[in-house]
Amino acid sequence: MIDTHAHLHFPQFDEDREEIIRECENKLDAVITVGGDLEDSKKAVELAMSSRKIYASVGIHPHEAKNYSEKDYDRIVEISKSSPKVVALGEMGLDFYRNLSSKEKQYEIFEMQIEAARELNLPVIIHSRNAGKETASFIRTKFKGIKGVLHCFSGDKELLKAALDEGLYISYAGIVTYPKNSELRETLKYVPSSRLLIETDSPYLAPQPVRGKRNKPAYVAYVAMTIAKELGLSFLDIDRMTSLNAKRLFGLSLTEEEKKERLAYTVGNKLYVNLTSKCPCSCKFCFRGKEDFILGYNLNLRREPIPEEYMYRIKNPGIYDEIVFCGYGEPFERFDVLKKVAEWIRKMGGKHLRVDTCGLGYLITGRENILDELKGLIDTFNVSVNASAPEEYYEIVRPKFGSGSWESLLKFIKDAKRKGFKVIISAVNYPGFNEKAFIDLANRLQVDFKIRNFKRFGKWEE
Ligand code: SF4
Repeated sequence: MIDTHAHLHFPQFDEDREEIIRECENKLDAVITVGGDLEDSKKAVELAMSSRKIYASVGIHPHEAKNYSEKDYDRIVEISKSSPKVVALGEMGLDFYRNLSSKEKQYEIFEMQIEAARELNLPVIIHSRNAGKETASFIRTKFKGIKGVLHCFSGDKELLKAALDEGLYISYAGIVTYPKNSELRETLKYVPSSRLLIETDSPYLAPQPVRGKRNKPAYVAYVAMTIAKELGLSFLDIDRMTSLNAKRLFGLSLTEEEKKERLAYTVGNKLYVNLTSKCPCSCKFCFRGKEDFILGYNLNLRREPIPEEYMYRIKNPGIYDEIVFCGYGEPFERFDVLKKVAEWIRKMGGKHLRVDTCGLGYLITGRENILDELKGLIDTFNVSVNASAPEEYYEIVRPKFGSGSWESLLKFIKDAKRKGFKVIISAVNYPGFNEKAFIDLANRLQVDFKIRNFKRFGKWEE
């Protein structure tokens, strides 16, 4: 687990810093100690040099902007280059809550640090308080080519949208654990798994179970627990996802396990089988081509593994609540492998088998008897329809087979239902999605439906 934002070099840790660092070394993978001004950043760098698990960020907080000018640009660069343990610039940004520096000065120093980040090719850590609209507009206009994270995200939807459009990460701190912050917890559902980070902002903002105490990096686990509960995932899922995300953003080394392309992976107690990266569709909201890492796993297969490799990876199918053929691409692209692996899973005691599909199996395989071949092997088809009518379908899903795809998709759904499979149709509620019409479609087809939250992976093409 990685605490992506702490201030371990602050005086609040003077009395027991060594003990706290030992605890970080025992319990966490890394901690980033974040500078508030340039003298403070030097202390952060010094501390990072003393422990292999501590890294530093160099920056000027908006409160301190009044003490700096463009003449300090070279000092930022110099301090950042003074150690390989400097992994980011910041915290920087806008704070119109306390207004300890004038707005003009805050903008000037924020922009100067963005330039430095560009020169140094480092990610930035952004602070925004009572300035959501202004920070969103700054991100939209100044962040081209800049990587970074919105630290201690407090729930501003416009800011979230701007940050995700620019590919930034979103970091949740102890405030997400406070009972009254249900609206903030609600925003978690719109953050892609590969953009989520966690932090403590210690010594401040201790999470609920230890609220009122001095915060410390090990308490980041409370943040992870709250997020896991909110998203219906396990603590280990959140640990895996956020640690990998932090390593990728801040350039820390990935383990061999983390780099490995995943043929099969677990989320909670379900096993997902990733057969291919190919898909005949090109949905406007899809992450394919924009992101290889989903749910803390590298899913973009660069080759097409043989069935025995899946069997070797799955080992004991009987231990999972459900096994789902799903992944980076469309399972029917590899129908023969799907069938062979499903047969083996059944033989080995696998209980519930589901295929998540775009529903174009007939067009992909060129055959209409595929459902008969899957009888007794697959229990459920989750068909991503993502539209309620043909025009919408061709505009959003963009199947490579062109006209006739909608009819083939509907035939697949009807046939699957008629042949006794459980069928669920699903859609992402992208901007302009007609939810009522989609529910009507599900009712007409007499199948269950599921609507998934639209998550921004870069700009949505209007
Ligand atoms: S069907 Fe699924 S995998 Fe294929 S493009 Fe659409 S969202 Fe992506």
